[in-house]
Amino acid sequence: MNLIEHFIDGKITKGSSKKTSKVFNPATGEQTAEVNLASKSDVDSAIEKAQKAFANWSIKPPAQRARIIFKFKELIEKNSDEIIKLIVSEHGKVYEDAKGSLTRGLEVVEFACGIPHLLKGEFTENVGTDVDSWSIRQPLGVCAGITPFNFPAMVPMWMFPLAIACGNTFVLKPSEKDPSCAIKLAQLFKEAGLPNGVFNVVNGDKEAVDALLTNKNIAAISFVGSTPIAKYIYENAAKNEKRVQALGGAKNHCVVMPDCDLDQAVNGLMGAAYGSAGERCMAQSVAVAVGKIGDGLVNKLAKKVESLKVGPGLDKNSEMGPLVTKAHLEKVKNYVDIGVQEGAKLVVDGRNIKLQGYEKGFYMGGCLFDNVEKKMRIYKEEIFGPVLSVVRVKDFNAAVKLINEHEFGNGTSIYTRDGDVGRTFASNIKIGMVGINIPIPVPVAYHSFGGWKKSLFGDQHMHGLEGVRFYTKLKTITSKWPKGLASDPEFVMPTLN
Ligand code: NAD
Repeated sequence: MNLIEHFIDGKITKGSSKKTSKVFNPATGEQTAEVNLASKSDVDSAIEKAQKAFANWSIKPPAQRARIIFKFKELIEKNSDEIIKLIVSEHGKVYEDAKGSLTRGLEVVEFACGIPHLLKGEFTENVGTDVDSWSIRQPLGVCAGITPFNFPAMVPMWMFPLAIACGNTFVLKPSEKDPSCAIKLAQLFKEAGLPNGVFNVVNGDKEAVDALLTNKNIAAISFVGSTPIAKYIYENAAKNEKRVQALGGAKNHCVVMPDCDLDQAVNGLMGAAYGSAGERCMAQSVAVAVGKIGDGLVNKLAKKVESLKVGPGLDKNSEMGPLVTKAHLEKVKNYVDIGVQEGAKLVVDGRNIKLQGYEKGFYMGGCLFDNVEKKMRIYKEEIFGPVLSVVRVKDFNAAVKLINEHEFGNGTSIYTRDGDVGRTFASNIKIGMVGINIPIPVPVAYHSFGGWKKSLFGDQHMHGLEGVRFYTKLKTITSKWPKGLASDPEFVMPTLN
C-alpha cells in the first residue's frame, strides 16, 4: 500500500509515529493509500526547520521572492493535469470542476507575484520640522495552515503563496482525507527554487493540529474547515498568543425573486447546489422562493435534478461525482431521512442510486426538498452534500430577515431584474460574500474571501490585501537627523512641531 509521508525541509520525510489513516478513491470505494499521521515531535521538527529558514527568506528582496513564485506558477500550469487528477482521485469531484478550483488557487499565486508592489509602505516627509515618518510591513515568522478536504489545492493556495511572498515560512497541515495534492505542490515549489524549510507539509489529525496550536514558534494560524473546529482553533490560537483567521461552515441562501429570469436562476442553482456534490462552503443549499415563483421554481428544478448525470470524476459525461468518504455519504443520506421525518416534502430522492461497475463508490443522486421550514434541522445545519432545500417566503423583506437570522454568514445570492432590489439586498444582508445574478460569488484573488457570523472567527479574510495584512505586521518609524547642536531634553509628550 502506498504510504504518504510528510514534506519537511525540502524533502519527503518519514514520520516518527506509527499512526496512519486510510485514503480512498471515492469513485470506486477502494483504498488507494495510507497517510502517516504526524506526532507532536514531527510537527515540532517541521516548525524548527521553518524557523531556521525564516532567517534568510525574510530578508530576501521581495522581487527575488516574486521570481520564485512566478516560476512556481509556471510549474503548476505545466503539471496541472497531474494535480487535477490527484484532486479527482482522492476527493471525487469531476475533472473540469477540479480544474476550475486549481485555477482559482493559481490566481492567488499570480496575485502573490506582485508582492514587491503589495509590500510598498507609506512615507511622510516632515511630520515635524526635519522629521520624517514611514510605515513598513514585515513578515511574522512561521505561519501555519490547516485545511479541509473539499478543496485540497485551492484552499491551501489561499494561504501559503501569499504568506511566503510576504517573507514568512509555512507549515501546512492538509486534510488527511486527500493529502497528496499538498505534497505535490510542495515539490513543485521546491523545483521552482524555493529554499528548503520555507514550505513544509505535515500530514496528521488532531495531534498535529494541537502541536501547531501550542508551539511558541508559530506566529499565525490560518484555518478553513467546519465551524466547531474553527472555533476551537480561534480560541486556542488566541490563548497561545497567535494571530488567527479561522473560516468555518456555511448554509448559503439563494433568493429567487418573482421578476427574475427563472431559467437563469434554475441553472445557477443547479451548479451551485449540486456542483462538487454540494461539498463546497459556497454551495447554495437553500433556495428562497419569493411570492408566486415557488411552484415554477420547484418544477423546473425537479426535472433537472432527476436528470443529473452522476458518475466518476474522470468520466467526461459526469456532472456530479461521489462524496468524499462512505461515512460522509451516510451522514448526508441520514440528513435526508431527517428531513422526511421533519415533514419537508422530498420532491427528488437521490438516496438509492446505483452505478453499474462502481457499486462500491460513494455515490448518491441529487435530492430536492420543498416546503422546508426554519425550525427544521435540514434548514439549520450544514449538510455538505447534494441536497437543496426550498423555503417559501411571502416577500423580499421576509427573505432578508430569514437569511440575516441564520447563524452562518458565508455567501448568498439573489436573482432579480430589479436593480434597486439587488442593491438593497447587497446593502442589508449580513453575509460576507454576495452575488447579484451570480450563483457562487467567490471573490477573485485580488479581492478577499471570507464570511460573517459563524462562518469566520477572526478579523481578516483570506488573500487579497486582507491576506497581505494578515501575514505581515506594521512598523512605523519616525526619524530625524541631527543638524549639529544637540537639543535640550524635553519632558513633555513630543508633538513634532
Ligand atoms: P473539518 O473541520 O472536519 O476539518 C478541517 C481540518 O481540521 C482538517 O485538516 C482536519 O484534519 C482538522 N480537524 C478535524 N477535526 C479536528 C479536531 N477535533 N481538532 C483539531 N483539528 C481537527 O472540515 P472538513 O470536513 O475537512 O471540511 C468541510 C468543512 O469545511 C465544511 O464545514 C465546509 O463548510 C468548511 N469549509 C469552509 C470554507 C470557508 O471558506 N468558510 C471553505 C471550505 C470548506
